[in-house]
Amino acid sequence: MGDRITKQSNQSNQPKETTMTTDGKPRTGSLELHSAKLSGLKGWVAWSFWVKESPYGNYYQMVGAVCPLYVRGENKGKPNYRAADLSTRKTIDITPQQHQEFIDDWELKNNQCMNCLGTGQEWAGSSVEHGRTYRECRYCKGTGKPS
Ligand SMILES: [Zn+2]
Repeated sequence: MGDRITKQSNQSNQPKETTMTTDGKPRTGSLELHSAKLSGLKGWVAWSFWVKESPYGNYYQMVGAVCPLYVRGENKGKPNYRAADLSTRKTIDITPQQHQEFIDDWELKNNQCMNCLGTGQEWAGSSVEHGRTYRECRYCKGTGKPS
């Protein structure tokens, strides 16, 4: 029996909005999928996304861990970051080239645009007056097909 890692109460376990982008990419959802795959762990989810700068080019850095899903309430089915198993915490670096290959591979297998998951629509924002608003997906131009 190993010691269970004590959770740090001052640690932010809240997911952060992605702010990275140098060229309009990346797409947060695809980075979640990519980092989860690279973690090699079932149930692993990233909760922070950064763009790191380096002399060799910028890259994406994700931090996450295996998180249980909420089983009830309004967050049902979503990861509970506060209950993350911190022994599975990992930092994963992905270069834009690696990520583009991942996207191309995914789109080929699924025959769908990865940004909008084939819907042709992407999230544009939310406001009090209009609620959630969507616009034509900028990657596939609304076709839902691989861009
Ligand atoms: Zn699309």
